[in-house]
Amino acid sequence: MPIVLGVIADDFTGATDLANNLVRSGMRCVQVIGVPDAALALDDVDAVVVALKSRSCAVERAVEDSLAALDWLQQQGARQIFSKYCSTFDSTDAGNIGPVAEALMDRLGAAQTVMVPAFPINGRTVYQGHLFVGDRLLNESGMQHHPLNPMHDADLVRVLSRQVTRPVGLAPHPLLARGGEATRHHLEALGEQGVGLVVCDTLDEGDLAAIAEAVVDLPLVTGGSGLGQALPAEYRRRGWLAEVTDPGRLAPSSGAALVLSGSCSRATLEQIARFLEHRPGMALDPLALAEGETHFQDALTFARGRIADGGPVLVYASADPARVKAAQAALGTERAGQLVEEALGRLARTLVEEGVGRLVVAGGETSGAVVSALGLRTLRIGEQIDPGVPWTQAPMPGREAPLSLALKSGNFGGPDFFTRAFEVLT
Ligand code: ADP
Repeated sequence: MPIVLGVIADDFTGATDLANNLVRSGMRCVQVIGVPDAALALDDVDAVVVALKSRSCAVERAVEDSLAALDWLQQQGARQIFSKYCSTFDSTDAGNIGPVAEALMDRLGAAQTVMVPAFPINGRTVYQGHLFVGDRLLNESGMQHHPLNPMHDADLVRVLSRQVTRPVGLAPHPLLARGGEATRHHLEALGEQGVGLVVCDTLDEGDLAAIAEAVVDLPLVTGGSGLGQALPAEYRRRGWLAEVTDPGRLAPSSGAALVLSGSCSRATLEQIARFLEHRPGMALDPLALAEGETHFQDALTFARGRIADGGPVLVYASADPARVKAAQAALGTERAGQLVEEALGRLARTLVEEGVGRLVVAGGETSGAVVSALGLRTLRIGEQIDPGVPWTQAPMPGREAPLSLALKSGNFGGPDFFTRAFEVLT
């Protein structure tokens, strides 16, 4: 069966966030890391999300990778393509959101697409083309200080106009409030005037539903996770989705339970403190890792011992800002990060080989390091643990049971995330 939706996501955790929403709206979903070399067996899959690293790279690279993902998704039969970016429209005047959208339009022969970054339940809304984070305009939300993609302008029509060659238009809220049909007519009228990219206002779920109804037949849509939540209802209305009772169903999990953390975000530090109240854990120190193999071997021995006791067990490099600064001052920021990521990646690989079957990883970069140390390319998306973080499952070469994996970016998850995750799984 060809897939219904093919998603090209500009970063890893953003990909998972969207995939999670698709599953919650009833689609069976697989996330792949980078563009696969070959076709995948996708018999019972409705959507594939290709996770790229194209948010902050050079625009030529972002376009090239996105087109490669598009070609692959078209080979899998995708009816609609979705270019996924952050709900804060992270980009610079040079791109990458606009140029990627135009390159995809050119390749697809699409005359028009929509830009729908909003995610109302997370406080990201768009009004009169202006993006808000909570009650602040984007350029007053803290995003003006972002290290890679500082956002100094909340007017998305203006931001996008600086990135693209085609005229940019707006689908305003009063129009969306009149429903999907009226919205589609508006898009068509804009199209007759030559408008190729339409920024859509979005105040709430009702607006998202109207947009989804209006755009379901477009070859290409672009936006954030909110649109991903609204589209499946339209696919279902068209009869494109098989009726399945549990789209996030995974194979039964088995094997020992392990938590690895390299995230120093506030939410993670609290989750670690909460876990250590009742469960065993060991801190990894980058300074000790720099001195040789002993510290790593100590951590491995510790984890093996606690796993034998029944787990779950935690190994964490996470530390408060003062300790992180001290390690960075002594080793350099990059080397400190590398030592931690390499150690956590090796721990994951060794302990999974020895029988760990349920693994929680905290930290965006850390997750990337662990996934690559394990050589994983495909994640089946399962049930949500906390908003934005689902359980996933990956086939493991040479092993019958798949690995159950939860990848949490820094600030996600409630305080009891590390224990709750395993409860959700059982
Ligand atoms: P988050 O999602 O919270 O931003 P990341 O994993 O993306 O977490 O980033 C955290 C970074 O900090 C990683 O590169 C990690 O290796 C590094 N790191 C973790 N612990 C320490 C530490 N004690 N000292 C210095 N760097 C650390």
